[in-house]
Amino acid sequence: MGDTIEVAQFSDWMRRYAGVIHENAAMLTELDSAIGDADHGSNMDRGMSAVVAALEAGEFASGADLFKKIGMTLVSSVGGASGPLYGTFFLRFGGKLGDGPVDAQALGVALRAGVEGIVQRGKAEVGDKTMIDAWAPALEAYDAAAPDGLDAALRAAAEAGAGGRDAATPLVARKGRASYLGERSAGHQDPGATSSVLLLEAAAATLA
Ligand code: ADP
Ligand code: MG
Repeated sequence: MGDTIEVAQFSDWMRRYAGVIHENAAMLTELDSAIGDADHGSNMDRGMSAVVAALEAGEFASGADLFKKIGMTLVSSVGGASGPLYGTFFLRFGGKLGDGPVDAQALGVALRAGVEGIVQRGKAEVGDKTMIDAWAPALEAYDAAAPDGLDAALRAAAEAGAGGRDAATPLVARKGRASYLGERSAGHQDPGATSSVLLLEAAAATLA
């Protein structure tokens, strides 16, 4: 459809996500208190506050520059599993954006590279009850809708991601801290899948 994303929109995406994370920090921590160590909301809030501070302190010529800074900031400011995982996501995502205009197809390629980074780092598969359960269907839906443009692709991704998050709720966790609970992890919504859907929703609100 010829629509492309400017660096300023990427920055808006991150600011919006930081705000949404702050508003939902208590909810994310409550989800993590059921099957983890009750820190996902505070981890993400600390990380995204550091990201906003880094955005304010620097100037970024390209999406690649911007997301390199964001990825490094998350890796260094978040102690939990989610810091390195989201950090890797943004480093790989930014690394694939290139210098040219980012259209729906290019964004899809970068999102997929980011998610591949999470998989390489965390070794989770669909069905392990992690953020990958949200990301995998989101990428599929994105690619299917990308010919219709950015707005359609991002909305489809957010919706499919939410479906994947919910489909993982009855499952038993096989990765991360939640896996220590075994069968008792079943019936609880995964915190990381939840924060990933918030990231996709923020993307749909800012990038299209
Ligand atoms: P920690 O588990 O170290 O306390 P957080 O609470 O911030 O870190 O994040 C927990 C979330 O991280 C989980 O809900 C899950 O979605 C995600 N996660 C944990 N381990 C993995 C993994 N190996 N691969 C993908 N995602 C993971
Ligand atoms: Mg935790």
